[in-house]
Amino acid sequence: MGNEMKLYDVTIIGGGPVGLFTAFYCGMREMETKIIEFLPYLGGKVSYFYPEKVIRDIGGIPAITGEKLIGQLAEQAQTFDPTIVLNQQVVGLERLKDGTFMLTSHNGEKHHTRTIILATGFGTLKSAKLDVDGAEKYEGRNLRYGVERLSDFKDKHVLISGGGNSAVDWANELLPIAKHVTVVHRRHEFSGIERNISNLRKSTATIMTPHVLDAVHGEEDRIERVSVKNIETNDTDIIEVDEVLVNHGFCIDLGPIKEWGLEFEFGNIKVDSKMQTNIKGIFAAGDVANYLNKLHLIAGGFSEGPTAVNSAKSYIEPKKELKPIYSTTHF
Ligand SMILES: Cc1cc2nc3c(=O)[nH]c(=O)nc-3n(C[C@H](O)[C@H](O)[C@H](O)COP(=O)(O)OP(=O)(O)OC[C@H]3O[C@@H](n4cnc5c(N)ncnc54)[C@H](O)[C@@H]3O)c2cc1C
Repeated sequence: MGNEMKLYDVTIIGGGPVGLFTAFYCGMREMETKIIEFLPYLGGKVSYFYPEKVIRDIGGIPAITGEKLIGQLAEQAQTFDPTIVLNQQVVGLERLKDGTFMLTSHNGEKHHTRTIILATGFGTLKSAKLDVDGAEKYEGRNLRYGVERLSDFKDKHVLISGGGNSAVDWANELLPIAKHVTVVHRRHEFSGIERNISNLRKSTATIMTPHVLDAVHGEEDRIERVSVKNIETNDTDIIEVDEVLVNHGFCIDLGPIKEWGLEFEFGNIKVDSKMQTNIKGIFAAGDVANYLNKLHLIAGGFSEGPTAVNSAKSYIEPKKELKPIYSTTHF
């Protein structure tokens, strides 16, 4: 960390799977590289939404959990020792007189760079919070907004608030592990994949609809009981819980990057076949980049990243070719 005023060849905004593989490839092209990530950890949507899901559509890897894939990508990214900055959202962009860029993070920290590769996905991810008095003090304790470790819920009474795809998935995943699962949802209908919803309805889970989680009660550091209100009758039940898992959706937003003067197309940043945006020296790869027949898959981003790096390299050193470099000849 630190080194904020050193001039980097490339700064990758976003430490998701595509940002990580892009950082590795920057090292292949001998570019001084920095990754800036908003979350306190690497891995983007994979770490945030599905660390324990098995991914089966990456060439050469028949099956791998999200967590393992990110572990391997982080290891690969560190081959050439890039600077990794966590917990910072890049908000400001300034083009200096010498053509380099000065980026500013939400906390005021500055980052000086010759080129930028946007690997921001659809933006920063923030879970919608449980909107009841005093809930925030239980965050990071037994009030959770995601499932990091299934084992955290072993033999516990888990109350899940929410009725979307993830809430249904979590309920089904936790049923064999937890002592009991209660699902509270404000509508009668759940949304998501029909088979998963049928499995949940047929399971031993207690389903409370149309109900809302109305209040949390507990000691200093743990929720012990919750009030759950039927929104049609206003009847309230008090339920003893060990863990409360909230899935009220999330916000995903590019934030101030939308004001940088980049050209957008279908909500994402328009790039050409070199992954060049409309601003010279700024490239994009992964979910944020848009072009004809764009594939929103990790495998697609693994090709776009190196293309963006090769373009950034020839932007800095115009005599360098855009040709691919093979790792087999590099090491
Ligand atoms: C539930 C689910 C299941 C999926 N399953 C699969 C699958 O099986 N196979 C597959 O190929 N794809 C799958 N996908 C899609 C895949 O996750 C995405 O294509 C992939 O994560 C895109 O990677 P990325 O690095 O471009 O973006 P992301 O993973 O979104 O990472 C972008 C990172 O940039 C950070 N960031 C954003 N803005 C800023 C900023 N201003 N400053 C600093 N950091 C910033 C974010 O915090 C984030 O960590 C799935 C997606 C979901 C939601």
